[in-house]
Amino acid sequence: MKIVVPDYYDKFICVADECNHNCCIGWEIDIDNDTYYLYENTIGNIGDKLRKHIAEEDEYRYFKLNEAERCPFLNENNLCEIIITKGEGYLCQICRDHPRFKNYYTDRIEIGVGLCCESAAFLILNRTNKTLLLTEGEGNDTDEEKVFFNIREKIFKIIQDRDLTISKRIEQICSFFDLEMDIDKNELINLLSSLERFDEGWNDLLTMYEKTDFDYRFLLSEDKWQIVYEQLLVYFMYRHLTESLYDNCFIERIKFSILSCEIIFNLFVSKNKLNIEEFIEIARMYSCEIEYSTENINVIIEFLK
Ligand code: SF4
Repeated sequence: MKIVVPDYYDKFICVADECNHNCCIGWEIDIDNDTYYLYENTIGNIGDKLRKHIAEEDEYRYFKLNEAERCPFLNENNLCEIIITKGEGYLCQICRDHPRFKNYYTDRIEIGVGLCCESAAFLILNRTNKTLLLTEGEGNDTDEEKVFFNIREKIFKIIQDRDLTISKRIEQICSFFDLEMDIDKNELINLLSSLERFDEGWNDLLTMYEKTDFDYRFLLSEDKWQIVYEQLLVYFMYRHLTESLYDNCFIERIKFSILSCEIIFNLFVSKNKLNIEEFIEIARMYSCEIEYSTENINVIIEFLK
């Protein structure tokens, strides 16, 4: 089995109690079967507490969040009581993995860290070197996958061709795949406003975007924003093209990746605080609102068809 990771992957660190948007707040926490049986058989006070907070619907189990929408095991110092009492081995799969994502192929797994985590977003968007993919182990890709990886490799080459401006690179991708990216702003805002919501602050951002007349392209005269765009686009392509092997929406997923960058950049300039910290925050919000909701992604993919 081949394991592929971006070269920044090992540098990811969860900032835990220093995190401003702790992933143990507001997100439902699924409990996988193996961990459920472990919790069923855990003795002592922690075992009783674990069982007390498990909710069950059909075959699906999860931790009930408290009234403040916090995981019941997140203590007042924003540290995890399960880790403190039993160690990381007692976490459910989703808590062990998050914010890592995995894309599965026949004989390879591609892993990365998701932008919804502020620490991962900081790591990805502050990079100046071109992102490389590192491979470990052996594995055979199917013929269909080989074609997919070849095309994706070409896309990465174009995105990372720093002899061209980022606008030219995007133009090249669009012309290579014959893509139209001319999307009406009002239609787009209506679409984004109709999607499943995670944080009400997202509405304020969309309202600001609606009221702003200028678009983000003026920023791209600066090299540093071109590099941020490049890193963001590589991230989206790496993470979101895989699904096209199952849903045949390769073109729509390329468009989704470009559109995601455009939305994030436009939200950023409408807020008019042009620093990287603000950009990271908007990218994080976009990721929570759109990227981490399969339902929302599917609505956008349908729209892009
Ligand atoms: S969002 Fe990221 S940095 Fe924050 S607690 Fe979760 S994994 Fe850690």
